[in-house]
Amino acid sequence: MNDHVEKLKRRLDGIDQQLLVLLNERARIAGALGQMLDALDLPKHHPDQDNQKVAELKQMNPGPVDQQAIEHLFKEIMTSTENREKPRKEERKLLVSRQAKSEDTVIRVKNVEIGGGSHVLIAGPCSVESREQMRTMAAAMKSVGVTIIRGGAFKPRTSPYDFQGLGLEGLKILKEVADEFGLVTISEIMSPSQLEHAAQYIDIIQIGARNMQNFDLLKAAGRMSMPVLLKRGIAATLDEFVYAAEYIMSGGNTQVMLIERGIRTYEKWTRNTLDISAVPLLKQKTHLPVLVDVSHSTGRRDILLPCAKAALAAGADGIMVETHPNPEAALSDAAQQIDIGQFREFWNGLRDSGLFRQKP
Ligand code: PEP
Ligand code: MN
Repeated sequence: MNDHVEKLKRRLDGIDQQLLVLLNERARIAGALGQMLDALDLPKHHPDQDNQKVAELKQMNPGPVDQQAIEHLFKEIMTSTENREKPRKEERKLLVSRQAKSEDTVIRVKNVEIGGGSHVLIAGPCSVESREQMRTMAAAMKSVGVTIIRGGAFKPRTSPYDFQGLGLEGLKILKEVADEFGLVTISEIMSPSQLEHAAQYIDIIQIGARNMQNFDLLKAAGRMSMPVLLKRGIAATLDEFVYAAEYIMSGGNTQVMLIERGIRTYEKWTRNTLDISAVPLLKQKTHLPVLVDVSHSTGRRDILLPCAKAALAAGADGIMVETHPNPEAALSDAAQQIDIGQFREFWNGLRDSGLFRQKP
């Protein structure tokens, strides 16, 4: 009796060894087939074909192994021994990518050039509050040769009870003042329905961090033919940021600029965390101008200059900074805005650093 048991055990061992040989033989043949198909540029095995083969094998199955086990075993064998086509995510060449366009995109607005090798500084208050406030700021900027003025009229505020901006009236003030001082303007637009009308008053549309994935807004901006400054979302990956820019470009608008404005992390010493690595990465992967907003990324006045220098050293095409004639009284972002004296100091510091290349 014992002899018989031993014999059966040995037979099982023998079968296992044969199965091992057969499995490896199967893997070798599948590998050779895969290489041959590759060489001939023919499609490789597709996972759907497995189901068909397994169904055929189940029909041939004389038992006693049950159908479920046959299905499971053969699917496993096929998976582990076949050199199959891996389902690949479609790799599309994005319009914003360097593969699609190797040379840098240069955006020209009036007498200003962004992304053409020289640097720009965008300054101005968080919000347009009054004509007087904007005139004071514009005059200070003009006197030191800073030519792009910002000012929010449609404000995306966390609380509905906070100052929401002057709306269209704010854009009208911005335009009036910019025309008087010969400045280029930039302001945030929050909804597709505002876009066409509001855009008549400004030179550059800003799409804010909170709207980076407002796809209807991105699509609407894509149908415009004016420059768009797209801010990185509060917690957006670079992939998401780049795809958001692609939305605008795929609509036909090629005048897109990116701006890193800090991302939310666990760090509390700064309002957001300035992701400096985003600058060289975006410059490497895309052909679009890349700017850095030192105000919203840090949320504090005392480190604006070193952060701006870091941004330029990392390859940024420009800097955005929030400035206000009287920051303490500002209706939004009072803590981070700098006054006119501090703005002059900041500007001198940037120029003295030797990092800021001004258009000759
Ligand atoms: C702004 O620039 O005024 C602003 C609201 O910034 P962000 O969208 O980056 O928060
Ligand atoms: Mn602000």
